[in-house]
Amino acid sequence: MKKPAFLRGKRNIIISIIILVLVFSLVSILVLSSDTIENVVDTIKIKPLDNRIIVIDPGHGGIDGGTNYGDILEKNINLEVSMRLKDLLVKKGARVVMTREVDDSLDDHIVGNGSRHREDLSTRVRIINENKADLFISLHVNYSKNEKKLGPIVFYHESRSDNKYLAEHMQKFLHEISAYKKMDLNHKHNVMSGNYYIAGNTQTPGIIIEMGFISNQIDRKLLLDSEHQSEIVEKITKGIISYFIEPQND
Ligand SMILES: [Zn+2]
Repeated sequence: MKKPAFLRGKRNIIISIIILVLVFSLVSILVLSSDTIENVVDTIKIKPLDNRIIVIDPGHGGIDGGTNYGDILEKNINLEVSMRLKDLLVKKGARVVMTREVDDSLDDHIVGNGSRHREDLSTRVRIINENKADLFISLHVNYSKNEKKLGPIVFYHESRSDNKYLAEHMQKFLHEISAYKKMDLNHKHNVMSGNYYIAGNTQTPGIIIEMGFISNQIDRKLLLDSEHQSEIVEKITKGIISYFIEPQND
């Protein structure tokens, strides 16, 4: 039986409203969930340091302040930059192990036969070896009697050939730091080898990065500058990623 015309009109209106509500809901869901979708995509996406284990070793700590200029202590700069480096490496997919995350040394704090320093260093070695790291980075701040000396220098131990390769790789990236370029300062050093206890006793390629000279007025200011610290971290991260992309060919 045919419905009266006014009822058919009403049905059309109801159907139109239902369709409108459905379309509106669908659009809202899509808009609201685009953030969530992005997050999901972000977690599925392959990151450049996925499956990499990296140990960050902030030099000194606790009773051992490292080098200093007045009350500016190396150990604090090392830790600050290291924590920032950790955040960025984790974002890039790495599993990061820190030798320390607080202002403390890594020995058992017993003052005795004067071997606290060695104990501190061997604990750092143990952390690197036990975690089967792919790479370790020790962060330090330099000092020179020559107050004009400035800029980062990467040090390596000759126990492994890939240490030098890694050091040279990293130095290249650190040469790109903008603060020196802006000031037109010649800060470019060559990598240097040295007999470093940690680098000589690990089964892992690694380097010691002296981020700048606390004895130099410009470096001192830069080392405490948040923007500059971020750039150091960014350059180190780029250096690490590119090292894994182009490992040494033996
Ligand atoms: Zn140091």
